[in-house]
Amino acid sequence: MSDIRNVIIIGSGPAGYTAGLYTARAMLEPLMFSGYASGGQLMLTSDVENFPGYPQGITGPEMMMHLREQAERFGCEVIDKNVASVDFSSRPFKVTVESEVFQSHAIIVCTGAEAIWLNAENEEAQKGRGISTCATCDGAFFRDEDVLVIGGGDSAMEEATFLTRFASKVTILNRRDVFRASTIMYDRAAANPKIEIKPFRQIKKWLSNEQGLTGAVIEDPRDGSTEEINATGAFIAIGHKPITKFLENQIETDDEGYIVHKEHTMTSISGVFAAGDVVDTRYRQAITAAGMGCQAAIDCERWLEDNVH
Ligand code: NDP
Repeated sequence: MSDIRNVIIIGSGPAGYTAGLYTARAMLEPLMFSGYASGGQLMLTSDVENFPGYPQGITGPEMMMHLREQAERFGCEVIDKNVASVDFSSRPFKVTVESEVFQSHAIIVCTGAEAIWLNAENEEAQKGRGISTCATCDGAFFRDEDVLVIGGGDSAMEEATFLTRFASKVTILNRRDVFRASTIMYDRAAANPKIEIKPFRQIKKWLSNEQGLTGAVIEDPRDGSTEEINATGAFIAIGHKPITKFLENQIETDDEGYIVHKEHTMTSISGVFAAGDVVDTRYRQAITAAGMGCQAAIDCERWLEDNVH
């Protein structure tokens, strides 16, 4: 069993690194478990144009490197491992990482969210053989090929626009004619000559041969009529779900698994705080996650003063 830390931050990304920066500058010597794939969803993003301070934009991975460097400069200790489980039933709290148990007076959970799959027929077999949830990761495999993007939010628009760097044609399929995407992202995709946007289309079944994906049977939800569409790649961009499974009934979450704030950024357990996409069902932006990471760090510092030090 380790010494008792002041605060353990679980998860990286804008919320985690900002919490790391603030708690480090408050001399709390934070320990962060950033995950095997540190940096969160921004590591899978191409250009970030809406984070203040970068007039020319910046790539997601570069921004995460900057945030991490800044937190580490003030003494945040970062370990690139996943947390397997936690025990919040008594204090100090316990955090298990690769069968080693770490103890801490306070915890800040910033584990973010991960992409949702469609789970259409034949999807499981084609994962990694043409179907992906990350254009930044896999887009370059589809040079001069026809690809599909499923969804009507900012993620779908961003993925489609990015994919035009490689693909000969990108078809966006959305299940209705209302798009959740912001106007600027929708307009950019709609104006791209390589992109076609088809509303009222959902995937009924993925089609494949020995080489991999060949297309899909798509359905018009208004009348159930179907048609086939050819594509060797497909990118599912229909939203995200919070990463809270490792918390296993330890703190209160909503029906979808998002952590619930009880008092400011504190969760149902006194001394456990949460920030970023793991709680945010509304804004889900890098800048709002960073802001909430700052709030959680300040709340944590005050709680430690009142309850521990
Ligand atoms: P959204 O929730 O905004 O959009 C999800 C889309 O997928 C909707 O069109 C939804 O349709 C559709 N969908 C959901 N479930 C299904 C399903 N089972 N079958 C078919 N379609 C489905 O998620 P995003 O990931 O796009 O965005 C999440 C957040 O991240 C937003 O706040 C967004 O602004 C932000 N973001 C910002 C970016 C940026 O600014 N650079 C880039 C990417 C994301 P329906 O509307 O019918 O429910």
